Amino acid sequence: MATRFKTRGIKANQAYYVHELADVACVSVATVRSWLKAGMGRVDRNRPTMVLGFQALEFLKARRNKAKQPLKVGEFYCFRCKGPRKPLGAMTDYYEPSATAGGCLKALCDECECPCNRNVSASDLPAIRKVLDVAIRGIQRP
Ligand SMILES: [Zn+2]
Repeated sequence: MATRFKTRGIKANQAYYVHELADVACVSVATVRSWLKAGMGRVDRNRPTMVLGFQALEFLKARRNKAKQPLKVGEFYCFRCKGPRKPLGAMTDYYEPSATAGGCLKALCDECECPCNRNVSASDLPAIRKVLDVAIRGIQRP
C-alpha cells in the first residue's frame, strides 16, 4: 500500500525544497525523491532541486486518483485480496451501527471468504437489493 501523504499544507504558489515538501506532506525526503523519479514536475534541472506547489499537487492528485478502485453496486473491497469482490453467495447483512451514521453491509469475500464491510446509505438499499440478497439485522448499538 502506498504511503499516506497530506496535501493540505502544500501551497500552490510556493516553491519548496525537497526537505520542505517532505515536511509539509508528512513523508520522508526519500519519498519526495521517489515522486521526482516517478515524474513529479520540478522548477528546473539545477540543484538544489525545487518543486512548485502546484506541480506537487497535480502529481499527488493524479497519483491518488489512480489508486482509487471505485466499487459497483453490490461489490465490496476485500482488504485481503486488495480488490473489489462480490459477496459469497450474493448474501449480505445490513446493520445500522448508530442512529446518525447510516448503515453498514457485512459479507464474506467470494474468493477468500474473509469478512468485508461497506458503508451504505439506507436510501441505497433498494438498488442493492436488486443485485444482492440483503438480510436486515437491525440496529447494533455499542
Ligand atoms: Zn478476499
